[in-house]
Amino acid sequence: MYLPYGINEQGQLVYIESVGRGKTALKCPYCAVPLIARKGERLAPHFAHDGATCREARRSSETVALPVYDSFRLHLSGKMWEALWQFHDEDNDSGCDWLEAEGWVKSFITTYGNERYSLTHKGKIPFGDLSLNLFNQFQEPLIRERHDTLEQAALAALCTAEENTALTDLRLFRAQMRRILETTLYFIEVRTDTGILHKIGVTTRSLEQRLAEIRADLTPHFGSVELIPLGTWAHRGNVELYFKHRYRRFQHPIAALTEYFAFGDVKAVLRDLRRMKPKALNDMERAILAGEPSRVERHELNPAEVLSKAAWLLLSNFSSDEAKRIFEARLELQNHRLGERTRPLIVFTSGYPDLRLQVTDYGRAYRERFADWYQRMYASGIAESV
Ligand SMILES: [Zn+2]
Repeated sequence: MYLPYGINEQGQLVYIESVGRGKTALKCPYCAVPLIARKGERLAPHFAHDGATCREARRSSETVALPVYDSFRLHLSGKMWEALWQFHDEDNDSGCDWLEAEGWVKSFITTYGNERYSLTHKGKIPFGDLSLNLFNQFQEPLIRERHDTLEQAALAALCTAEENTALTDLRLFRAQMRRILETTLYFIEVRTDTGILHKIGVTTRSLEQRLAEIRADLTPHFGSVELIPLGTWAHRGNVELYFKHRYRRFQHPIAALTEYFAFGDVKAVLRDLRRMKPKALNDMERAILAGEPSRVERHELNPAEVLSKAAWLLLSNFSSDEAKRIFEARLELQNHRLGERTRPLIVFTSGYPDLRLQVTDYGRAYRERFADWYQRMYASGIAESV
């Protein structure tokens, strides 16, 4: 994967953009080998191992990448891309049955009773044809789903050899979510002595500070520069790269600066931007923005995952005779599921006629891991029984 974060001595994740190129004092979040910041022309900036690359970092970049953030082909295979492209650019719908089955196009019946096809929201993204507002609506649930999948994987890996990897995947993903949530998207008009340009960008600081830097960037290239902010959108860092993709035909590079555009009709672009609904943060996003670790790292369970009080009391104060007596609690511990993986907290150790039960290794680790959590949950009950 293109490792986007290294870990510093304080254990914090440090983003590739905030370090210079070359050797760093950072380490791989998976294996702790020192990292080198690679910032070439051809590949996206990323960290490479100063030594052997670990197995975890050799996995696909997809593992911790934000969905539909910096790549808009959406894993289209070459053949399918060709069929989609022919439909889009040449109105050739010969491959449409196939494209429809994969959700790229949908069929409809014209007023004359003919079957025709149109691109779905997903099908519009590779061409940048989807509006910014609908792009947000398409991407946000995918980000949430990916987060939940990684969280479930981390729960399933608790107390196994995979735990560190799964937790690190989740931490990296949350760091990337934080990065797009903490940034404000801005759009500004750039008046120069040779004409009007526009700039899209993101910042975590005040727009005034950013404007001063932009003015300094542009001054060598123009006789005069005036900057007029046209809008800011808080927590919308997710849109910047899609905006560049959608309006790539209007890009107007100034030396190495790529965020400038020369629009024929900027009103349409402004409408597109202003139709985006203000980003309303949910509880999870607020926690991520505040830099809080995931509930898995904090050893917290959600209501659907919590053991009943009887089962927890049995586990925390276990005896085989007691387990045989409380049938329901026993079954609950035997069939325990966490992170969509069944892992018994207790098992039978010997069969008929000498039926005995004991706590599994996982059961012991679980008991230790979540003791504080249950203590808080079932405070009075636990206090009485211990
Ligand atoms: Zn590594």
